[in-house]
Amino acid sequence: MHRFRHWIDGQARDAAGGRWLDVHDPANAQAYAQVAAGDGADVELAVAAAQAAFPAWSALPHSERARWLEALASALETRLEDFAQAESRDAGKPIRLAREAEIPRAVSNLRFFAHAATQFASESHHGQAGLNYTLRAPLGVVATISPWNLPLYLFTWKIAPALAAGNTVVAKPSEVTPATASLLGELAAQIGFPRGVLNIVHGLGPEVGETLVRHPAVRAISFTGSTAVGQRIAGIAAPLLRKVSLELGGKNPTLVFADSDWRANLDTLVRSAFQNSGQICLCGSRLLIERSIYDEVRDALVERAQALKIGEPADEATALGPLVSQAHYDKVLAALERARGEGGRVLCGGHALDRPGWYVAPTVIEGLGPDCASNREEIFGPVVTLQAFDDDAQALALANAGDYGLSASVWTRDLNRAHRLAAQLRVGMVWVNTWLQRDLRTPFGGVGASGLGREGGAEAMRFFTDAKNVGLHLG
Ligand code: NAD
Repeated sequence: MHRFRHWIDGQARDAAGGRWLDVHDPANAQAYAQVAAGDGADVELAVAAAQAAFPAWSALPHSERARWLEALASALETRLEDFAQAESRDAGKPIRLAREAEIPRAVSNLRFFAHAATQFASESHHGQAGLNYTLRAPLGVVATISPWNLPLYLFTWKIAPALAAGNTVVAKPSEVTPATASLLGELAAQIGFPRGVLNIVHGLGPEVGETLVRHPAVRAISFTGSTAVGQRIAGIAAPLLRKVSLELGGKNPTLVFADSDWRANLDTLVRSAFQNSGQICLCGSRLLIERSIYDEVRDALVERAQALKIGEPADEATALGPLVSQAHYDKVLAALERARGEGGRVLCGGHALDRPGWYVAPTVIEGLGPDCASNREEIFGPVVTLQAFDDDAQALALANAGDYGLSASVWTRDLNRAHRLAAQLRVGMVWVNTWLQRDLRTPFGGVGASGLGREGGAEAMRFFTDAKNVGLHLG
């Protein structure tokens, strides 16, 4: 059975304690590999390696660090198919999604931030008597902690700006999907990436993640994952005055108005609901539909959901794969039971599939009010709820109900309405007549229970650096 090891100081390592965790194939629920189960001893080694590597790495010119990130991006591009296959198996992700979207996006993350570093704008103010300018210095050793839903994409989204800014990194991928992060460590070693600059420690959250958060030498923590764990990290980091960036859960509304081209956009609406089996923090899990078109949209959506091709992740025709783990599968099935208990009418799906692996049928539920747990708590599966609204004010109130505030999409031809709602929606990202339109320069993140801070473009570079102002008297 293949074993995914840590990458510490440029070398593959078993866990100091010699323990391993099983890694499962979600399509058949069988263990297919093992991953090192790290603990405090591994974290110590990785942080020490990152500390030792920091002076030389941070002293390199931006352009040199950019060259290393470019080299890693090119090496990853050369191995794209291997990485796509590995990600597909590890996360149960349809192979086409891995090959056409997620691994190419990981390549783009590395390339984009390589150059973001060379173009880092410095601010200066020239007054009558003096000059002020701002320096931005890397922080030192930073920790990144990432989830299982977009494993390599979110891993590179964090390490690329951190490294480009001159920090050294200890990265903790999800123990549920360690494959591609581990392969990236191998690739970095193969191209001779400077030792100790990028260290990868696998293992459980409380044992590796939390030890990293508490480690005195770790200057910042960039976390993506659940709100509960984000709150815990914030609680530990606050008294230590440690910088944190928290990208957490969502319960994102999709607002469909009668004047929209919803029929022509049905593909995108369905994708926004069910892509990656709903296991994307940006999926639109609450569809709010103007009452005059409610029945039509509902029927079309149910028809499309039922037609989605469910299958083996490795099959080119598969649109929907399994959920990632037994624990997550149990959680989604429990949420379906709860929705029924709350009086929800299940229009399609609502059950597990009778086959090996953690498959849940795409599910559409109506008849639930905005205060139901089903409309307030993240399910993170192929499950959407439908609610009708009568006017803009009600649409807005429904959209803004609840604690989360990650993203929203608004479907309308009325430009005034689109801009008005974009300003009033209590979220970090709004899409108008589209979904998940990515531009790596734009701020990414949420408000409320969806997190703290922003990633992307200059926001990420600011997070991973300290500003220092210098005032000079021009006597
Ligand atoms: P999770 O919070 O369980 O785990 C995320 C990471 O944190 C994993 O690497 C895990 O090992 C680690 N971890 C767990 N407990 C920890 C602890 N006590 N201290 C430190 N680290 C710990 O989340 P998950 O189930 O892997 O991912 C799904 C969640 O991620 C969903 O809620 C989803 O919405 C969210 N997510 C958010 C975004 C975003 O950008 N806002 C993107 C993707 C996923």
